[in-house]
Amino acid sequence: MIRFDNSYARLPERMFNRQTAAPVGAPKLIAVNRDLAARLGIDADWLAGAGLDVLAGNVVPDGAAPLAQAYAGHQFGHWNPGLGDGRALLLGEVLAPDGARFDLQLKGSGPTPYSRRGDGRAWLGPVLREYIVSEAMAAMGLPTTRALAAVETGETVWRETGLPGAVLTRVAASHIRVGTFQLFAAMGDTEALAALTDHVIARHYPQAQGPEGLLRAVMQAQAALIARWMGVGFIHGVMNTDNMAVSGETIDYGPCAFMDGYHPMTVFSSIDAQGRYAYGNQPRIALWNLAQFATALLPLLDDREAAVARLTAILEGFPDIYEAERRAVFAAKLGLVAPTPDDDGLIDGLLDLMQAGQSDFTQTFAALASDSAEGHILDRAAFTDWRARWSARGPDMELMARSNPQIIPRNHQIEAVITAAVAGDYAPFHAMNAALSRPFAPLDAATRPYAAAPTEGERVARTFCGT
Ligand code: AMP
Ligand code: MG
Repeated sequence: MIRFDNSYARLPERMFNRQTAAPVGAPKLIAVNRDLAARLGIDADWLAGAGLDVLAGNVVPDGAAPLAQAYAGHQFGHWNPGLGDGRALLLGEVLAPDGARFDLQLKGSGPTPYSRRGDGRAWLGPVLREYIVSEAMAAMGLPTTRALAAVETGETVWRETGLPGAVLTRVAASHIRVGTFQLFAAMGDTEALAALTDHVIARHYPQAQGPEGLLRAVMQAQAALIARWMGVGFIHGVMNTDNMAVSGETIDYGPCAFMDGYHPMTVFSSIDAQGRYAYGNQPRIALWNLAQFATALLPLLDDREAAVARLTAILEGFPDIYEAERRAVFAAKLGLVAPTPDDDGLIDGLLDLMQAGQSDFTQTFAALASDSAEGHILDRAAFTDWRARWSARGPDMELMARSNPQIIPRNHQIEAVITAAVAGDYAPFHAMNAALSRPFAPLDAATRPYAAAPTEGERVARTFCGT
């Protein structure tokens, strides 16, 4: 029923903990992602029926080799040697009909040796949030983990108060993180580190040569990913090294959020008091994380001093690679074909005008394509001047239409969906997902409500990990 081939489970046993999920009392289906099931070659009708027990963690499907992955990481810059899947379980790897390999993971599936003081569970809010946001990211064409299904557990999860428990089934190219490498490097387990490196090269970057080639490939993927985040106003919120997937996919949607009004220092996460992971800091933090990745690869290289110099030289290439990726993303948003560094002035000029009045990021770019953006900009005179320069460059309106989403999953709307779901009404959740599956279509009756920016009273200032 599910075609498994579990390559991670064939790595040295000390890299993970084999175990099953903790069963739940009364699983109830919230959603099955039919398009994604088809992509994976899994029968969606089966998933929604007999497969429910698999999605809830009550039954181990044939061919699975469930395990919790071990990892470490830097959290807000501080080293934590003992992380790992504390509330997640890798069921195994699915081979899709086209041969592509995907991790199938349950999130909220009960305690593991890596749970520390946590209960291993998730409540409905973060499960729905990750479902909505990860699927919206995929629909906008960003590299991301996906949501295959969500189920209620029928059990209460205790946070500040009792809340409905839920399990998300997550699909990813892999769940291997910078922190996975860091763990084995820190343990001095060079054999596991080498096995992990070979595994990741074979799985994600078959053209890469050795640790240095891997660093280059991961750096390129991360630069491209962060540029894409910036282009949709996405703020991850917890860019710890354990939340950075080496595959280059967005992973671990916690207190993430999309900006409404544009300002580079926008922060939402309640645990990010210093703004370390603010919108505008994300490229710098990606490089910081890549430096930790490089450090973790060092034990694999001879002649430490020479190796440090070579890896440092690779890392020094990040700003240029990122700037090129960022230019490609923002030039497309302005309809600029074949961009060059000369276009940076146009890009930054608009962003400066938007910052002055905290223009709505999504609405302003969407309005540009219909040449109706001036209402979003505070300084009209400066905008008129900017628009003249932009028009002279000959923007391609079709390129803009497919590069600027009309709608994004806005925080205040996600919160409303969660509130309704907790009260038993999933209609808003399904409506929001359906709308966000076609972000680039001209607005219509079904999508228009999601284009609205929050009113002062609706604005969500803080998001919580709320695990
Ligand atoms: P995060 O930064 O939210 O991805 O989580 C950091 C670490 O905390 C990971 O090792 C998680 O598995 C663990 N964790 C978070 N929430 C829980 C929970 N409710 N129970 C057990 N472990 C958790
Ligand atoms: Mg995490």
